[in-house]
Amino acid sequence: MKIRISFLFIALLFAQAAISQQLENLNIIEVKNLRKVRARHEIKIPDISGYNTLKCDFHIHTLFSDGTVWPTTRVDEAWQEGLDAIAITDHIENQPKNKSLVGDNNTSFDLAVDIAKERGIILIRGGEISRHMPPGHLNAIFLKDVNAVDVPDFNDAINEAVKQGAFVFWNHPGWKRHQPDTCKMFPIHQELIKSGKIKGIEVFNAKDWYPVALGWCLEYGLTMMGNSDIHGIVSHTYDLENGHRPITLVFSAGKDEDSIKEALFAGRTAIYFGDNLIGKEEFLDAIFKASVNIEKMGLADSKGRMLYKVRNSSCIPFYMEDSKGEKMTIPADGSFIFYFNENGKYDVRVTNLITGVEKDLEVRLDL
Ligand SMILES: [Zn+2]
Ligand SMILES: [Zn+2]
Repeated sequence: MKIRISFLFIALLFAQAAISQQLENLNIIEVKNLRKVRARHEIKIPDISGYNTLKCDFHIHTLFSDGTVWPTTRVDEAWQEGLDAIAITDHIENQPKNKSLVGDNNTSFDLAVDIAKERGIILIRGGEISRHMPPGHLNAIFLKDVNAVDVPDFNDAINEAVKQGAFVFWNHPGWKRHQPDTCKMFPIHQELIKSGKIKGIEVFNAKDWYPVALGWCLEYGLTMMGNSDIHGIVSHTYDLENGHRPITLVFSAGKDEDSIKEALFAGRTAIYFGDNLIGKEEFLDAIFKASVNIEKMGLADSKGRMLYKVRNSSCIPFYMEDSKGEKMTIPADGSFIFYFNENGKYDVRVTNLITGVEKDLEVRLDL
């Protein structure tokens, strides 16, 4: 009994000591690990053909049009998601600006530009020319002064954007509010493409993808764009734990605004949405080849065939199908074991690398 009492006494002494130590810090106790670590995610898609593969979103709204987010938060979101460049493209007209805010068409960019520099995010000044259909909505990016594009006549607006050296692309061509049951091009779009004023089209917008627009890009030599058109908070809209917002990959000579602009006018882009890429064959082929590596394992199966490890270092799984309809996947950032025929070649279609309307990338796994 005595022993038990002394043990209790010692335990009480220890507890007392712990409390008095806490009391010393009663002014402030910092509870570490309660907040999220501010970490930047890495989108692992390789550089190709001597170009940097930049991850970009060229269609973003803020509170300065009909978005619900402050401009600086857009930079933070982009940094955390692993993007290299964003364009803030608030609606220029036909949209009620938030009446409690002071500012004009340039304010959202101006508010975010300093934090973008701090974070190393390339911030591009832009605006969304928002008219009834046709022509509908067009983004003008790399503008110098968005206010000058805020004019009543559509032709004056687009001419001003072109005069400022902007890259202009047609947004969400099949948006249901503009074209409820189809996605067609109007004569005005054809004229704007012919006169070199429209240089690109959103083949993917927010959650909608328009295969017909991919066909137009290939037919008219236009740049393929894929953007989020985000209005709310990105992490509330997309599952960032398991996925990402839709983005445009830009194959850019440098990591700066001028290089991105040059690449967009030259049509060096691809679109990344879900597990899929959309793009010209040459770019998707280069991404596949830069991602996949075949290693001999030094083992043979029961028939004496050599086993190989096919490794994929990118964040995109490759879903493949051979001529007999057999399917296999090289997982993202992973590998699978494979044996080759005597000729060491294996032809497959990569069904999530889309190079045309109902057309996928065809590749040869070659030893
Ligand atoms: Zn729009
Ligand atoms: Zn928009």
